Amino acid sequence: MTKDITSSTAAAAPLIDIGINLAHDSYDADRGEVLERAHAAGVVQMIVTGSSGPSTRRAIELSKEHPARLFATAGVHPHHATELTSDVLAEIEALARTREVVAVGECGLDYFRNFSPQAVQRDAFHRQLELAARVGKPVFLHERDAHDDFVSILREHRRSLVGGVAHCFTGVGDQLSRYLQLDLAIGITGWICDERRGAHLLPLMREIPANRLLLETDGPYLLPRNLSPKPKSRRNEPAFLPAVAEAVARARGEPAETVARASTQAARGLFGLPPDV
Ligand SMILES: [Zn+2]
Repeated sequence: MTKDITSSTAAAAPLIDIGINLAHDSYDADRGEVLERAHAAGVVQMIVTGSSGPSTRRAIELSKEHPARLFATAGVHPHHATELTSDVLAEIEALARTREVVAVGECGLDYFRNFSPQAVQRDAFHRQLELAARVGKPVFLHERDAHDDFVSILREHRRSLVGGVAHCFTGVGDQLSRYLQLDLAIGITGWICDERRGAHLLPLMREIPANRLLLETDGPYLLPRNLSPKPKSRRNEPAFLPAVAEAVARARGEPAETVARASTQAARGLFGLPPDV
């Protein structure tokens, strides 16, 4: 263990980080220690996000190295939508059918950055929702500043999908209601720990049914702002997930243990994860 990195307090009950970009190169130097700290903090399982062909392959490799502990998603993030050629789509489908992969994505729309043209993003989103229906796995969804288009595309495909999560939810009440009507699970990140940007999320936490509330760090991004003492690095990691669980629990007026248990059960149900080893 590296001494100069803060661990937040250990979880009140086992937690699952449903969105960690563990293939990201910021973890290359100390990925083993990151996993050790996650374990010490009570984060018993993690879903490693695939956001491109290469990162999906890497997420699957990591999952093979840590069976029953790490799992992967297979997909192409809207930022990379222009990369989703028919060859890449065929590769993602083959990868999505492997044992390690528990969801298709992350896929969706991101009109905040528009790194890929919006029409290309919409097409890539359609293709991956069709793919998820073919392989019969849930979808791991990303949406930013594209709510209306996102919902209308999802509505077209919803009946053929087995389920999904709106990951890193940062929206307003109406948007939450629409996602819940679509029978999606909701992924909550350290955004909720941000007293400025995340304040609007606090009253919404009680509106999410316990069996659809999932927790994620989205590391290395979105370091919770309420960690004490603050880590020296800005990098987020799964060991900080208890801080997210505690913020959600406070907002719901529930013990952290209740939130932890329910979210772990919900994640296992949606993604078909085994009990931890
Ligand atoms: Zn995302």
